[in-house]
Amino acid sequence: MANWDRQVDVIVIGLGIAGACAALEAKRAGADVLVLERASAGGGASALSQGIFYLGGSTPVQEACGYTDTAENLYRFLRASTSHPDDAVIRTFAEGARDHFDWLEAQGVPFTRTGFSGKAVYLQNADCLLTTGNEKIWPFKDEAKPVPRGHQARSDEVNGGLSAMRALLAQCEAEGIAAEFDTAVSELITDASGTVVGVVAKAADAPKQRIAARRGVIVATGSFTNNPALVRRWLTRLSATSEPLGIPSNDGAGLALAEAVGGALAAMDGVIATASLYPPEDLIKGIVVNARGERFVAEDSYHGRLAGFIMEQPDQKAWLIVDSEIFAYPGESTGHTLVDGFETIGDIGPALGLPEGALDRTIAQYNHDTAQGEDSAFHKQPPWLKPLDKAPYAVFDISFDRSTYRYISLGGIDTDAHARVLDADGRPIPGLYAAGACAAHIPRSGKEYASGLSLGPGSFFGRVAGREAAARTEDLTMSEGKTANATA
Ligand SMILES: Cc1cc2nc3c(=O)[nH]c(=O)nc-3n(C[C@H](O)[C@H](O)[C@H](O)COP(=O)(O)OP(=O)(O)OC[C@H]3O[C@@H](n4cnc5c(N)ncnc54)[C@H](O)[C@@H]3O)c2cc1C
Repeated sequence: MANWDRQVDVIVIGLGIAGACAALEAKRAGADVLVLERASAGGGASALSQGIFYLGGSTPVQEACGYTDTAENLYRFLRASTSHPDDAVIRTFAEGARDHFDWLEAQGVPFTRTGFSGKAVYLQNADCLLTTGNEKIWPFKDEAKPVPRGHQARSDEVNGGLSAMRALLAQCEAEGIAAEFDTAVSELITDASGTVVGVVAKAADAPKQRIAARRGVIVATGSFTNNPALVRRWLTRLSATSEPLGIPSNDGAGLALAEAVGGALAAMDGVIATASLYPPEDLIKGIVVNARGERFVAEDSYHGRLAGFIMEQPDQKAWLIVDSEIFAYPGESTGHTLVDGFETIGDIGPALGLPEGALDRTIAQYNHDTAQGEDSAFHKQPPWLKPLDKAPYAVFDISFDRSTYRYISLGGIDTDAHARVLDADGRPIPGLYAAGACAAHIPRSGKEYASGLSLGPGSFFGRVAGREAAARTEDLTMSEGKTANATA
């Protein structure tokens, strides 16, 4: 025991949303909790975010806005729209999402009972509920009843992520949860059996410490979005104009910690990138074509899904074509540029270097379909269907390698429905848990994503990790402990 500098029950690494939720639940389950945070304050990328939580099952906000949802409906949507291989993870989240909303609200996370029914990426007022995913998109709309599930924490004074994190951090403080800042965890310590029994941490201007965790260690260190080497290795479809979102310490440190003790990584090529066409909504009524002059996605898809498809097109090229009736400039931050205006559709293809006649055929088919009120190719929904026949026309370059697509990594530590870290054979590593953006997300690509599927499941499984770790009663520190070296 002399080997340890000190001992606690549960160590939480990182104080973003997953870490805060883990710490609260572990403490309430009776554990002596220590949070170690590398930055000078808690918050993480969570505090920078828009604060949209993907939740459902008839939350009070859904009900107040007139929507009926069920856990089963939420499960069916996530099962249909994501490729997460572990059904239990999706089931557990879907069944607990309604209560999780109540829990977040009880911690002081502010949600109003109002919603927005248009298409928006996020809200800049006090409204809460909006559609943030592909619920209304074919084929998912046929698998589950479409309802809005993006619950944005109040964001009229500060961004929603900050209002959520202020509440959660205040709750941690009120409950006396010990947190040490400017303290990075650099190694996990295992015993001879491979059980994780503690960490090596280093505070600024202090020697390294070996801190025992009698019940478990929870990794909640955030994404690897800001680790250029990992991004180059795994997110190979990103382009030179792609920009990372997040904070500098979203550098994948937790992934290295878990890997060094045998933790497996999953969905590492998963990325959500975005440079949304909307707002303004009218642009959704245009069409998006590739270098073959063909459409390849329903233009009313969630912006991350659209970007996911654009990323895969030949040379990552794509153009948005609109007519004078719906002309508007895309949001400046997207970097989508106006190529030119054109008097006839026939002028566009040659100017873009598209195969002869291809775009004319695409638009002829599209205009024929819209006249019937049915998009035969991609099932774009009726509110966004109109013929492109009001000259002049305009073209925006929305290519993946031209516009500014901002991204967040989705891959990370492989975990199960108990937030346990799994090894390459799918077996839990005793004493080790992970939650939030350091763990692989439920959606495994931008095509599968809906805004809120990071904060929603991240906070939910943070709580699961806190409870599960606190519930481990055996004293894991009896053996001396061997150090697994991990470098971020
Ligand atoms: C601008 C922006 C908007 C977003 N909007 C949304 C949204 O509306 N909805 C949504 O679902 N998602 C959104 N996201 C994504 C989401 O915010 C993150 O994926 C989520 O907050 C991650 O939470 P986390 O707790 O896992 O990590 P973080 O909040 O990043 O916290 C991780 C913490 O761990 C600390 N840490 C890292 N390494 C160590 C170490 N070795 N030792 C100790 N501490 C360490 C970090 O300093 C950090 O404080 C957004 C992201 C950004 C950047």
